Amino acid sequence: MTCRPVWAEISRSKLLHNFDLLRRLATAAELLAVVKADAYGHGTVACSQLLAASGAKWLGVTDMAEGVRVRAACAEAGADEVAILAMGGLWPGEAEAALTHGITPVVWEKVHLEEAAGVGRPMAVHLEIDTGMSRQGVRMEELPAFLDKLQETPQLRLDGVMTHFHSPETLDGPATAGQFSRFVTAMDTICGRGLKPRWVHAGNSATLLAPGAEALAKLAEKHGATAMIRPGLALYGYAPRFTGGAQPKFGEDLKPVLAWKTRVASLRTIAKGETAGYCATFRAERTTRLALLPVGYADGLNRLLSNRGAVLVGGHRAPIAGRISMDLTSVDVTDVPGVAMGDEVVLIGEQGSEAVPAYEQADLVGTIPYEILCNINARVARVMVDQGL
Ligand SMILES: *Cc1c(COP(=O)(O)O)cnc(C)c1O
Repeated sequence: MTCRPVWAEISRSKLLHNFDLLRRLATAAELLAVVKADAYGHGTVACSQLLAASGAKWLGVTDMAEGVRVRAACAEAGADEVAILAMGGLWPGEAEAALTHGITPVVWEKVHLEEAAGVGRPMAVHLEIDTGMSRQGVRMEELPAFLDKLQETPQLRLDGVMTHFHSPETLDGPATAGQFSRFVTAMDTICGRGLKPRWVHAGNSATLLAPGAEALAKLAEKHGATAMIRPGLALYGYAPRFTGGAQPKFGEDLKPVLAWKTRVASLRTIAKGETAGYCATFRAERTTRLALLPVGYADGLNRLLSNRGAVLVGGHRAPIAGRISMDLTSVDVTDVPGVAMGDEVVLIGEQGSEAVPAYEQADLVGTIPYEILCNINARVARVMVDQGL
């Protein structure tokens, strides 16, 4: 039991709103809903259950352990049909779990094939192609040798082929087109050997929101497969930031799913010239009312927000005053009338007509909203709520 009031509300209706919006955008392609890294900090069990029960065909997880949790959660929700992709490869000893729990691993290293073949029973895999990300995936020049090895192992069934774009939000650069044309070549090589993948997938939220996703559908169709796009961030209500062209429409219709909240734990008034917090980095320039919040960097509130970020209380913005501590943060509520002990405070989300999106914190500390959301610590309870839009 925890009574320290620090929690993240996850809106079911907003998650489903975003999922529906993305499904409507992906006219010619299926979606793989990315729920890796604990659903970007939103809680992968509850989010996966909701998405699977609402018709998601595929869920993408980080690894086998997360996949096993997601499989059990979906079974509990009566969504046994959902396919689960373990996007981070196949580690030694994981093939048995992949078979037992029906989780499809992404493979690109020969050791992955050896691990998969080791269990001696039929197993579906998705092959990742490195078309320019230089991260996961078989390099183009190594593809024939890899396919030799794959085809020497008849119990392995190539169910899908995928690649990942490194700059899909750059609308005026040649990178994505170059990667896509290498992917087309890879598909010709693969299917030219008589392999018949059912799924051909590429791209993320940006791919879905930007123009041009139809090319993927055409490629899949050419090989008798179904195209799939893998949105993550957009599911959780944040549009990628595009450069080199107009921001694609629909982005503004996404609704942030997570609201991070706490309550006022203590109040005090300090005189002009007094300081607050470690190293006295906040000095009152006037009589100042401080509200103490029971949340700190150990909860994932980035310490670089010290004296820079703001929270919402009483429908107003209240600046963070002084250094964020491990478990505590002070905010300046001098200009917020009537703040009382126990008042609800919003760290990320909306209150009245004010909002602190994850982008605001990300910009202040020089990162991306993904990291802000993923860093909300596990000790912050995730609470599913059903509030309307
Ligand atoms: C994380 C990830 C995605 C989702 O990316 P978003 O930018 O969150 O939409 C898609 N594909 C792969 C391979 C990923 O690792």
